[in-house]
Amino acid sequence: MYEFSHRRSARYPESMATIKTQTILIKNDKNISSEGTLRFTIYDHQERVKRAIIALAGFWLLALISVPVVVLHFVLVPAFLFMGPYFAYKRYHAVSVPIEVIGHCPTCDEELTIQVETSDRLPMWSYCSARHDPIQLVEIAGT
Ligand SMILES: [Zn+2]
Repeated sequence: MYEFSHRRSARYPESMATIKTQTILIKNDKNISSEGTLRFTIYDHQERVKRAIIALAGFWLLALISVPVVVLHFVLVPAFLFMGPYFAYKRYHAVSVPIEVIGHCPTCDEELTIQVETSDRLPMWSYCSARHDPIQLVEIAGT
């Protein structure tokens, strides 16, 4: 059920992350389903450490930049200082990050590409891009 392709991720061109695909089901509200493909990125340990450090450095840089902002710095500086380790922790534990779902809408049969957010997990509801039909993205049992 899994296809492996060892190429550089488009979202993080400097990384050695692996793009994987998984066959999933695209269901509509009348329980008609079609097959779709979920593309996601797998990060190895080294890559996750790198992503975590980038997140930490980014937020702490924002904290530093916020120091001269009068009055608001009382909120911004501590907020960014805390967000650094928080997002670094989340990124370190993000082994598999979804990118998009490609398939056909079971209602109108139009081709669809659904961008998936980092925090999204299946099953989830979305809309087909062509006619905004409600669709549910579901993992196939046993994969
Ligand atoms: Zn549709």
